[in-house]
Amino acid sequence: MNQADSLKLSAGLQELGYNDAISDDKADLFVINTCSVRQHAEDRAYSKLGILRKKREKGEKFHIVVMGCMVGANTKDLRRRFPFVDLWARPQQFEPILDLAVMERDISLGELGTFDMAKTYAKPEGPTAYVPIIHGCDKFCTYCIVPLRRGREESRLPSDILDEIKFLADNDVKEVTLLGQTVEAYGHDLDEETNLAELFEAIEGINGISRTRFLTSYPKDMTDRIIDAVADCSKVCEHFNIPVQSGSNAMLERMRRGYRIEEFEERVAKIRERMPSASIATDIIVGCPGETESEFQETLDLLERTQFDVIHVAAYSPRPGTFAYRKLDDDVPKDLKKSRLHLIEEIHAISAEKRKSAELGKTVEILVEKKTEDQLTGRTRKNQLVHFNSNASIGDLVDVQINEVTSWSMRGTAVGTFDLPILTI
Ligand code: SAH
Ligand code: SF4
Repeated sequence: MNQADSLKLSAGLQELGYNDAISDDKADLFVINTCSVRQHAEDRAYSKLGILRKKREKGEKFHIVVMGCMVGANTKDLRRRFPFVDLWARPQQFEPILDLAVMERDISLGELGTFDMAKTYAKPEGPTAYVPIIHGCDKFCTYCIVPLRRGREESRLPSDILDEIKFLADNDVKEVTLLGQTVEAYGHDLDEETNLAELFEAIEGINGISRTRFLTSYPKDMTDRIIDAVADCSKVCEHFNIPVQSGSNAMLERMRRGYRIEEFEERVAKIRERMPSASIATDIIVGCPGETESEFQETLDLLERTQFDVIHVAAYSPRPGTFAYRKLDDDVPKDLKKSRLHLIEEIHAISAEKRKSAELGKTVEILVEKKTEDQLTGRTRKNQLVHFNSNASIGDLVDVQINEVTSWSMRGTAVGTFDLPILTI
């Protein structure tokens, strides 16, 4: 979501005549787009601010803006701590940043003509692009800061989304990823009745787009209608990101996730019944307040039963302002959090390699995203990274036979026309 926000702001700044700085020394304006989902993410922003403060102290002249999830409704503490920052902007609050940029340039908006940020689309940087479709979150899991910083769920109009995707297709994008914190909640707040499945169906008709992805899924919002649409729409990739967070019902309750583990597993079963080879990624948090050995064991048991393709694991990080921060003790010792995290990382390496091994010998479609002198890199429909050699170009869809797998990636050989030698007559 942050990448999408950064690119959108960049598109707005370009409308004002700004360009990417060739180097940090040449920049007139620095915008740090922040994440605050864990302390570690905030720490990275703080260290970038430290670097900019030093540049300022050397007498260099530039503006500093901090935007994104680190910025809450009240910026008093931040302003006191970082007095050299010119502007604090909440997620999606682009206008004050553009106003600052206009002032800096000493040009009036009248001279520029007007442009509508809602219709200012980020120029794609390759054959894939992110498209936010629903902002914010209404779920309020006890550990999570996102709803406090990104606000309530707010869906974009289908016509806006489809216009943006047509613009992307006209600019050589082949794959779009529809984004939302709980992407299946899309549409529930709009006047016109619609949902994610209808959006998938509308994108099927957009020429140039070959693949549609979506994230992140929330088990309670994932209806049969949506799972059926993933199975039935040829462009929608059979890849799901469904964070489970824990395998223990007691912990899920403490997290206020709003579902029991049986319901989560029923959704996974439904996906696998409709699409037996679908890939499924999940997120786990270890060391949340009160996590006992047996609750953690229940998470391990879930991983054993489900065999995910990808497991993103994080150690619980208390976030000021959340219910967990205010009311629950961060009582799992740091070392124990770390050892639980490492155990799940090891399990991930094994299950990811096992799941990828099922692809050995198969021919799969790859969208080429990167080309170096040595090799091409792209992804399968199931979002697996593949390296191979061929004379294809970025943006091409290439059939590749898989002949090597590791936990992280696969290697293969291009089949068909792309590997024919080029004949010159
Ligand atoms: N909307 C998604 C995820 C949003 S946050 C969902 O419902 O799960 C992305 C991931 O960050 C989460 O899946 C979770 O694993 C992790 N995360 C969120 N808050 C956290 C916290 N306080 N400590 C550690 N990890 C956290
Ligand atoms: Fe955070 Fe829960 Fe919303 Fe995901 S669903 S963004 S974890 S509050």
